[in-house]
Amino acid sequence: MGRIDFETALKLYDADFFDLGDEADAVRKQLHGKKTYFNINRHINPTNVCKDVCKFCAYSASRKNPNQYTMSHDEILKIVEEIDKKGAKEVHIVSAHNPNTGLEWYLEIFKKIKQAYPHIHIKALTAAEVNFLAKEYNKSYDEILDLMIENGVDSMPGGGAEIFDEKVRNYICKGKVSSDEWFEIHRKWHERGKKSNVTMLFGHVEKREHRIDHMMRIRDLQDETGGFNCFIPLVYQMENNYLSVKEPITANEILRTFAISRLVLDNVPNLKAYWVTSTVNLALVAQEFGANDLDGTIQKESINSAAGAKSANGIELEEFVGLIKDSGFIPVERDSLYNELKVW
Ligand code: SF4
Repeated sequence: MGRIDFETALKLYDADFFDLGDEADAVRKQLHGKKTYFNINRHINPTNVCKDVCKFCAYSASRKNPNQYTMSHDEILKIVEEIDKKGAKEVHIVSAHNPNTGLEWYLEIFKKIKQAYPHIHIKALTAAEVNFLAKEYNKSYDEILDLMIENGVDSMPGGGAEIFDEKVRNYICKGKVSSDEWFEIHRKWHERGKKSNVTMLFGHVEKREHRIDHMMRIRDLQDETGGFNCFIPLVYQMENNYLSVKEPITANEILRTFAISRLVLDNVPNLKAYWVTSTVNLALVAQEFGANDLDGTIQKESINSAAGAKSANGIELEEFVGLIKDSGFIPVERDSLYNELKVW
């Protein structure tokens, strides 16, 4: 099968549901067999104070969440100490855009973690945060990216991508990093020999064609740099925010989107069903629609749970592994760069 163009990808939304799943599953099998990857990780969201005003956000303290917090570095180090004892291999650190802390506060989190726990992979700062820090502190993207590396950041998460279509983006998160800026930052990161992920927030006001356009733009940069490890479609959470979406996206539409992204993104090796936003059950089904990664145990999560996701306390490792096995797949623990660590 040749490369799928925009029109063909759009038509796949009207294809037979199970045929579409089979096609995506065939690609998944070719790439990964029955393996489903996960990692033992912990998400840390150090502050929810935000200068930006994304309509879909329930997390930012300046919107509907009145409970501001900013963690101290000692608090963060204590969390890392605990998760290190439990065998976590990665910390995933993303925050709101807090203008009150200073650039050093952001960077020293990484430096202190790396000094005390050099074996833990630090995945941190979305392109939206990089853009915020660059503008707030009069630095270039190059300077911020170099400072991240100097202070111990190993890879970048894929957040802040939302939907790349400028019109939709302007409506849901005006003022935040633009699509072009998002890609510029990831291109520069990849040029430094570093890896990142890329997300897509869907199920709100966007249309199917916006999702396909989003995937096409990712495919184009990946052709140039090869720096994306994983594509992560994130299902929009409906509660506590300013996007008044009346109807939730259906499971059928979510699974179709997974399958189509597996087929369109022929150059991105991994497709993640982030169970935090899709529910665990649907993430397990997504394994049959192209997904080969279920993220990890997470342990604690604040951003999506603020908008209604049932993810606040993560999931126990034994339960997680058992669910993957029971659904007919092979749980494989990976590190942050997709090296296999253990077949469970
Ligand atoms: S999504 Fe991020 S940048 Fe936007 S308001 Fe929420 S915390 Fe701020």
